[in-house]
Amino acid sequence: MPQYDLRDVNEPIIKVRTLCRHYQMGGTTVKALDCVDFDVHPGDFIMVVGSSGSGKSTLMHLIGLLDQPTSGCLLIDGDDMAQCRDGRLSRMRNRSIGFVFQQFNLLNDLTITENVALSQVYCGRRGEDRRTRARACAAELGLGDRLTHLPSELSGGQLQRTAIARALVNDPRLILADEPTGNLDSKTSREIMGIFHELHDRGHTIIMVTHDPDLAEQGTRKVTMSDGQIVSDVPGRKTIDQAAVGELAASLGGGASEDTGEGGGLGFFDLLRIGVREGLMAHRMRTFLTMLGIIIGVSSVIAMSSFSLGSKKKQEDQIRELGANLVRVIDKRLENERLTEARMSGSNGLCREDLALLRTNIPAIERAACVREIKLNVLHRGRGINPRVLGVSGEYLDVNNLRVSSGRYFERDDTLLSRKVAVVGHGIAGQLNQEGVIGEKLLLGGTPYTVVGVLADKNIDLEELEATSISDPNNDLLVPLETLLTRTAHLDLRSEIDEIQLQLESEEFLHTAGRAIKRVLGVTHQGVSDYDLVIPMDLLKQKHQAQRLLDILTICISSISIVVGGIGIMNIMLASVTERIREIGIRRAVGATRSDILYQFLSESMLISITGGIVGVALALAAVFSIGTVLEIPVVFSMPLLGIAVVASTVTGLVFGLYPAYQAANKNPVDALRYE
Ligand code: ADP
Ligand code: MG
Repeated sequence: MPQYDLRDVNEPIIKVRTLCRHYQMGGTTVKALDCVDFDVHPGDFIMVVGSSGSGKSTLMHLIGLLDQPTSGCLLIDGDDMAQCRDGRLSRMRNRSIGFVFQQFNLLNDLTITENVALSQVYCGRRGEDRRTRARACAAELGLGDRLTHLPSELSGGQLQRTAIARALVNDPRLILADEPTGNLDSKTSREIMGIFHELHDRGHTIIMVTHDPDLAEQGTRKVTMSDGQIVSDVPGRKTIDQAAVGELAASLGGGASEDTGEGGGLGFFDLLRIGVREGLMAHRMRTFLTMLGIIIGVSSVIAMSSFSLGSKKKQEDQIRELGANLVRVIDKRLENERLTEARMSGSNGLCREDLALLRTNIPAIERAACVREIKLNVLHRGRGINPRVLGVSGEYLDVNNLRVSSGRYFERDDTLLSRKVAVVGHGIAGQLNQEGVIGEKLLLGGTPYTVVGVLADKNIDLEELEATSISDPNNDLLVPLETLLTRTAHLDLRSEIDEIQLQLESEEFLHTAGRAIKRVLGVTHQGVSDYDLVIPMDLLKQKHQAQRLLDILTICISSISIVVGGIGIMNIMLASVTERIREIGIRRAVGATRSDILYQFLSESMLISITGGIVGVALALAAVFSIGTVLEIPVVFSMPLLGIAVVASTVTGLVFGLYPAYQAANKNPVDALRYE
């Protein structure tokens, strides 16, 4: 922060040395400013005159740090401005220099108070403090009853007062005014000039461009320009009030310069407010259409994944419902030559001894059962019914997660005495259609059996589980395996049992146990592969693995949609930068740094994308939840995925907003202000 030493009126605060500003127009060079030498002393009130195009504005812009010279140097307080970085230059524009334009250059969307407060935004004053000061400053300039109006509701004189208030609100030492009365009628001009005189009397240093020959004489100096050069520099009618200059100098330590040090720039809530006002609300339709890409991308990936995860979970639940951690060893039921061949090779097929061996060799086996299926005619009171008849032994109920709902299960004696008893599935019990099924007689291949129990209902959706070789226990008729083996005719070479069911301690053993089982059975079956190993949960996982392609495809399409949304955001932001280029110029003129502008536009693009992401998530949740409820489809919301979706849309806004924001930040302030 430069400290003008205003007490020494002989030492210039600004030294301009051989300052040039040339423009390259096709082949010719326009010398807007051509080797100008010029000093400004504290307390000066310099009137700059000259014909149109003589370089007055160019000089003002260079002194106001809104433009860079082609050559020569500009010293403020002895510091070469060419050596200063953007942050320092912006700070000086913000706190040491107040610029008043002919075209007022107010932001049309902001109220008078907000316009006046604009330069305070960039010096780190916050909230209420900012508004209080802006209101006081505006009131001092006679705008007390217009504070909440928009610029479009004010007269030219009031607009210029607002612009002056904005230039003064940070209490700058130097005021630059480029034809401040050029757009005003003569009465209003006089009022505005009155304000400048008052400021000068208080000790401010002022440089003013004017076309009015009468005003030109009212300063302490009159500088005439022609063709980019200063052709005369003569005293004016006014004199410098040394006391006032000294007084202002004495107050330098306080006021604005105190809270200059740190924390300039837009705060989080400033960015949020600008983002909502300019990014979201200014062009609602346009913004919404841009957001659609993100909304569609986010909502589709969440919706699809919720249904997909829901269906997977349901299937896994059902597998667990039918017996968790289950491994099934299923006899291949070889026939004819292949059966003979297997027996010749020394394999007796699957038998109860196999189970005994497995149990001793594989400690992870917790429970086990043997099953033999047999095709028999089943008659109930002369009527044929069509169950799957299974001879079972061991812990069949537990392994398959079944329960007897009425009657009882087989007891020790049933097995030992080979009793002719049966337990029927819920579906079969229904077919018997009796009040009391227990005690009913069934003819199995002509042999009478007594129903002693009924299995509880198992509500399994077999269609969804087709790949897992699961059958419906509701349609089963169970008899003790021993009874079946002794009572039914033995088919000579056939394997003793059809299936061994093993329940492992936990799901993690499924894989290793599978290998161990093959090793054990490889020995007893003499290497003949006359059995299959089926792990339902594994089959399901494989099935899900196969479906993963679909998930990946969904994610790809959603990502493309999000990227397209991002491109849309980039497009809209580029348009926005062009549309608001004057706003960029104005903000830069009152002290915004490049990063302030960068963050502003970046926060706008991110706000659009984050809003899109959140709307997408909300939409997906609502849709999935209602569809799931109405159609009774299981759904699972993946919290990490919701998070990823929101993060992805945020990152999209960041990535695709970066280029437009960068464009905005790098506009030369004076070019931005001149843009029509
Ligand atoms: P004044 O304010 O005295 O009317 P300016 O300082 O605006 O004059 O302009 C001085 C000269 O520089 C003019 O001839 C103008 O055409 C030229 N000039 C100003 N800005 C540009 C620019 N961005 N590109 C090309 N020429 C410019
Ligand atoms: Mg001009």
